[in-house]
Amino acid sequence: MRQPLVAGNWKMNGSKADAADLVNGIKAGAGNIRKAEVALCPPFPYLPIVENLLAGSSIRWGSQDVSSETDGAFTGQVSARMIHEFGCTYAIIGHSERRMFNAESDATIAKKYQQALAVGLTPILCVGESLEEREHGKTEEVVARHLDAVLEGIGAEAIGSGVIAYEPVWAIGTGVTATPEQAQEVHAFLRQRIAAKSQAHADAVRILYGGSMKPGNAMELIGQGDIDGGLIGGAALKASDFLAICAAA
Ligand code: 13P
Repeated sequence: MRQPLVAGNWKMNGSKADAADLVNGIKAGAGNIRKAEVALCPPFPYLPIVENLLAGSSIRWGSQDVSSETDGAFTGQVSARMIHEFGCTYAIIGHSERRMFNAESDATIAKKYQQALAVGLTPILCVGESLEEREHGKTEEVVARHLDAVLEGIGAEAIGSGVIAYEPVWAIGTGVTATPEQAQEVHAFLRQRIAAKSQAHADAVRILYGGSMKPGNAMELIGQGDIDGGLIGGAALKASDFLAICAAA
């Protein structure tokens, strides 16, 4: 059985004090989480705060991105090795906001995925279609392209060593969530595509749903056969909401 994973993507929110408050609030309520593995992904500069506060707890943490390069003259970038130094387990790769606002291509994202794996981080690969793509019946084509950049480029084993997050762009931060059936359909499609290369990796890989997941819809979404947890944005910024989602998983 796949252990559910609930990861909070804080995006570019909060202050040092907010980060500490949020971690302490989540730590304090973590006793009610039965099954899920929990991870927090703060902005880069808050990683040491999170690392210090979570040392010795079962809650894990990660980054929201890594550089596609190993080191050198890449002003403003942060390497996978640096992130790993701060005790991170996970690195979110290829979030739609980075694809959109930082013009990240599938080729760049595949390089980032490889960089994360190379230092022992577990990449969380984000895939997902825009509203226009869904309305034009292109959902499977788009998520297949996002997945194949890693699956074809690096291999099924690389996918098996990571986590996938299906995040329909139209559901992110909009309050409109995919229905459990819509999400399950895409999750099953992604798993079948991996199974065509390796059944073992397809069975093992966790596929998270992300996009307006809230305490009120988490249980039904995560209850679907191929939905193995959530990647949470807005609701991850409030300890009580985030904890409720973790407890529902
Ligand atoms: P929201 O939960 O705010 O819709 O964001 C989802 C997301 O983008 C997580 O990576």
